[in-house]
Amino acid sequence: MSRSTKVLWPQRDFIAGHPALDFLNTVDDPGRSRRHNRLRDWPALMAWFEASGVLSRAWRELFETGESADRHAQILHDILTLQQLFYEHVQAHVNGAPQMRLGDALNARLSRALGRAHLGQSGECMESSEYMEWRVASMSPARWEDAIALEIEAFLRTHSLDQVRQCDGCSWFFIDHGRGRRWCRSHVCGSRHLRKRKRASPNRLEP
Ligand SMILES: [Zn+2]
Repeated sequence: MSRSTKVLWPQRDFIAGHPALDFLNTVDDPGRSRRHNRLRDWPALMAWFEASGVLSRAWRELFETGESADRHAQILHDILTLQQLFYEHVQAHVNGAPQMRLGDALNARLSRALGRAHLGQSGECMESSEYMEWRVASMSPARWEDAIALEIEAFLRTHSLDQVRQCDGCSWFFIDHGRGRRWCRSHVCGSRHLRKRKRASPNRLEP
Protein backbone atom coordinates (compact mmCIF):
# COMPACT_ATOMS: atom_id res chain seq x y z
CA MET A 1 0.00 0.00 0.00
CA SER A 2 1.43 3.37 -0.99
CA ARG A 3 2.22 6.08 1.54
CA SER A 4 -0.43 8.44 0.14
CA THR A 5 -3.05 5.69 0.43
CA LYS A 6 -2.14 5.14 4.07
CA VAL A 7 -2.30 8.86 4.81
CA LEU A 8 -5.63 9.43 3.06
CA TRP A 9 -7.28 6.20 4.19
CA PRO A 10 -5.51 4.89 7.31
CA GLN A 11 -6.42 1.34 8.27
CA ARG A 12 -7.62 2.49 11.68
CA ASP A 13 -10.56 4.20 9.91
CA PHE A 14 -11.90 0.95 8.45
CA ILE A 15 -13.98 0.19 11.51
CA ALA A 16 -17.42 -0.62 10.09
CA GLY A 17 -17.05 -4.38 9.95
CA HIS A 18 -17.86 -4.61 6.23
CA PRO A 19 -16.47 -2.77 3.18
CA ALA A 20 -20.00 -1.75 2.11
CA LEU A 21 -20.43 0.24 5.33
CA ASP A 22 -16.85 1.53 5.22
CA PHE A 23 -17.82 2.87 1.79
CA LEU A 24 -20.37 5.12 3.53
CA ASN A 25 -17.79 6.31 6.05
CA THR A 26 -15.79 8.35 3.55
CA VAL A 27 -17.73 11.38 4.75
CA ASP A 28 -16.57 13.41 7.74
CA ASP A 29 -19.97 14.29 8.97
CA PRO A 30 -20.63 15.45 12.53
CA GLY A 31 -23.61 17.51 11.32
CA ARG A 32 -24.97 14.71 9.07
CA SER A 33 -24.76 17.07 6.10
CA ARG A 34 -22.65 14.64 4.02
CA ARG A 35 -20.97 17.65 2.47
CA HIS A 36 -17.34 16.76 3.19
CA ASN A 37 -16.66 13.61 1.24
CA ARG A 38 -13.04 12.49 1.06
CA LEU A 39 -13.88 10.64 -2.18
CA ARG A 40 -13.28 13.90 -4.00
CA ASP A 41 -11.24 12.86 -7.04
CA TRP A 42 -9.88 9.92 -8.99
CA PRO A 43 -6.67 9.40 -6.95
CA ALA A 44 -8.73 9.40 -3.74
CA LEU A 45 -11.11 6.82 -5.21
CA MET A 46 -8.25 4.60 -6.37
CA ALA A 47 -6.59 4.87 -2.96
CA TRP A 48 -9.87 3.91 -1.29
CA PHE A 49 -10.25 0.82 -3.47
CA GLU A 50 -6.81 -0.32 -2.41
CA ALA A 51 -7.04 0.59 1.28
CA SER A 52 -10.49 -0.97 1.69
CA GLY A 53 -9.39 -4.26 0.20
CA VAL A 54 -12.25 -4.16 -2.31
CA LEU A 55 -9.57 -4.26 -5.00
CA SER A 56 -5.97 -5.18 -4.31
CA ARG A 57 -3.30 -3.08 -5.96
CA ALA A 58 -2.85 -5.78 -8.60
CA TRP A 59 -6.55 -5.86 -9.46
CA ARG A 60 -6.74 -2.09 -9.39
CA GLU A 61 -3.97 -1.89 -11.97
CA LEU A 62 -5.74 -4.53 -14.04
CA PHE A 63 -8.89 -2.41 -14.00
CA GLU A 64 -7.05 0.79 -14.97
CA THR A 65 -6.76 0.71 -18.73
CA GLY A 66 -6.06 4.25 -19.81
CA GLU A 67 -9.46 5.81 -19.28
CA SER A 68 -9.74 9.54 -19.88
CA ALA A 69 -10.13 12.23 -17.22
CA ASP A 70 -13.69 12.81 -18.44
CA ARG A 71 -14.43 9.14 -17.99
CA HIS A 72 -12.91 9.26 -14.50
CA ALA A 73 -15.24 12.11 -13.60
CA GLN A 74 -18.25 10.14 -14.84
CA ILE A 75 -17.20 7.01 -12.91
CA LEU A 76 -16.73 9.04 -9.73
CA HIS A 77 -20.14 10.64 -10.24
CA ASP A 78 -21.78 7.22 -10.71
CA ILE A 79 -20.07 5.86 -7.61
CA LEU A 80 -21.10 8.83 -5.48
CA THR A 81 -24.69 8.41 -6.72
CA LEU A 82 -24.58 4.77 -5.66
CA GLN A 83 -23.13 5.82 -2.32
CA GLN A 84 -25.97 8.26 -1.74
CA LEU A 85 -28.62 5.66 -2.60
CA PHE A 86 -27.10 3.14 -0.22
CA TYR A 87 -26.67 5.80 2.46
CA GLU A 88 -30.36 6.74 2.25
CA HIS A 89 -31.34 3.09 2.63
CA VAL A 90 -29.13 2.50 5.68
CA GLN A 91 -29.92 5.85 7.25
CA ALA A 92 -33.67 5.25 6.92
CA HIS A 93 -33.33 1.95 8.73
CA VAL A 94 -31.14 3.41 11.48
CA ASN A 95 -33.74 6.17 11.88
CA GLY A 96 -36.38 3.51 12.45
CA ALA A 97 -38.15 3.44 9.09
CA PRO A 98 -40.40 0.38 9.25
CA GLN A 99 -40.06 -0.98 5.72
CA MET A 100 -37.02 -2.82 4.44
CA ARG A 101 -37.70 -2.60 0.72
CA LEU A 102 -34.82 -1.32 -1.37
CA GLY A 103 -35.52 1.82 -3.34
CA ASP A 104 -36.04 1.24 -7.05
CA ALA A 105 -32.90 3.12 -8.08
CA LEU A 106 -30.63 1.17 -5.72
CA ASN A 107 -32.31 -2.10 -6.65
CA ALA A 108 -31.80 -1.38 -10.35
CA ARG A 109 -28.10 -0.59 -9.89
CA LEU A 110 -27.43 -3.75 -7.88
CA SER A 111 -29.39 -5.83 -10.39
CA ARG A 112 -27.38 -4.45 -13.30
CA ALA A 113 -24.11 -5.22 -11.50
CA LEU A 114 -25.24 -8.78 -10.81
CA GLY A 115 -26.28 -9.17 -14.44
CA ARG A 116 -22.74 -8.39 -15.56
CA ALA A 117 -21.00 -10.41 -12.84
CA HIS A 118 -20.03 -14.06 -12.87
CA LEU A 119 -19.66 -16.58 -10.09
CA GLY A 120 -16.05 -17.37 -9.33
CA GLN A 121 -13.89 -18.66 -6.54
CA SER A 122 -13.37 -16.22 -3.70
CA GLY A 123 -10.07 -14.46 -3.18
CA GLU A 124 -7.30 -13.94 -5.66
CA CYS A 125 -5.42 -17.12 -4.85
CA MET A 126 -7.71 -19.71 -6.42
CA GLU A 127 -5.95 -22.65 -4.76
CA SER A 128 -6.97 -21.46 -1.30
CA SER A 129 -10.57 -20.64 -2.20
CA GLU A 130 -13.32 -22.32 -0.26
CA TYR A 131 -16.48 -20.85 -1.72
CA MET A 132 -17.88 -18.98 -4.68
CA GLU A 133 -18.71 -15.29 -4.90
CA TRP A 134 -19.91 -12.82 -7.50
CA ARG A 135 -16.94 -11.43 -9.42
CA VAL A 136 -16.88 -8.19 -11.39
CA ALA A 137 -16.59 -8.39 -15.17
CA SER A 138 -13.16 -6.73 -15.29
CA MET A 139 -13.54 -5.47 -18.88
CA SER A 140 -16.95 -3.88 -18.36
CA PRO A 141 -17.01 -0.05 -18.50
CA ALA A 142 -19.08 -0.22 -15.30
CA ARG A 143 -16.50 -2.35 -13.46
CA TRP A 144 -15.63 0.27 -10.82
CA GLU A 145 -19.22 0.89 -9.79
CA ASP A 146 -19.95 -2.83 -10.03
CA ALA A 147 -17.12 -3.64 -7.61
CA ILE A 148 -18.83 -1.53 -4.96
CA ALA A 149 -22.35 -2.61 -5.94
CA LEU A 150 -21.39 -6.25 -5.39
CA GLU A 151 -20.06 -5.40 -1.92
CA ILE A 152 -23.37 -3.72 -1.11
CA GLU A 153 -25.32 -6.68 -2.49
CA ALA A 154 -23.24 -9.11 -0.43
CA PHE A 155 -23.69 -7.01 2.69
CA LEU A 156 -27.47 -6.72 2.31
CA ARG A 157 -27.77 -10.45 1.65
CA THR A 158 -25.65 -11.56 4.62
CA HIS A 159 -26.25 -8.95 7.34
CA SER A 160 -29.24 -7.60 9.16
CA LEU A 161 -29.55 -3.84 9.20
CA ASP A 162 -30.77 -4.26 12.78
CA GLN A 163 -27.10 -4.76 13.68
CA VAL A 164 -26.03 -1.47 12.11
CA ARG A 165 -25.43 1.46 14.39
CA GLN A 166 -24.49 5.04 13.70
CA CYS A 167 -21.83 6.78 15.75
CA ASP A 168 -23.34 9.35 18.10
CA GLY A 169 -20.42 11.63 17.31
CA CYS A 170 -19.48 11.63 13.64
CA SER A 171 -22.35 9.61 12.08
CA TRP A 172 -20.17 6.81 10.70
CA PHE A 173 -21.89 3.44 10.47
CA PHE A 174 -20.68 0.17 11.99
CA ILE A 175 -21.90 -3.30 12.85
CA ASP A 176 -22.60 -3.74 16.54
CA HIS A 177 -22.38 -7.32 17.72
CA GLY A 178 -24.69 -6.81 20.68
CA ARG A 179 -22.21 -5.00 22.89
CA GLY A 180 -24.06 -1.68 22.87
CA ARG A 181 -21.24 0.11 21.08
CA ARG A 182 -21.94 3.85 20.68
CA TRP A 183 -18.81 5.13 19.00
CA CYS A 184 -17.18 4.35 15.70
CA ARG A 185 -13.75 4.89 17.24
CA SER A 186 -13.58 5.19 20.99
CA HIS A 187 -10.22 6.98 20.79
CA VAL A 188 -11.76 9.68 18.57
CA CYS A 189 -15.50 10.13 19.08
CA GLY A 190 -15.67 8.44 22.49
CA SER A 191 -12.81 10.58 23.81
CA ARG A 192 -14.32 13.72 22.32
CA HIS A 193 -17.61 12.98 24.08
CA LEU A 194 -15.82 12.38 27.37
CA ARG A 195 -13.97 15.69 27.10
CA LYS A 196 -17.25 17.50 26.39
CA ARG A 197 -18.90 15.94 29.43
CA LYS A 198 -15.97 16.84 31.64
CA ARG A 199 -16.11 20.43 30.48
CA ALA A 200 -19.89 20.54 31.09
CA SER A 201 -19.67 18.87 34.53
CA PRO A 202 -16.13 19.28 35.88
CA ASN A 203 -16.93 17.44 39.14
CA ARG A 204 -18.13 14.28 37.42
CA LEU A 205 -15.31 11.95 36.49
CA GLU A 206 -17.20 8.88 35.36
CA PRO A 207 -17.64 8.37 31.57
ZN1 LIG B 1 -17.60 8.54 15.26
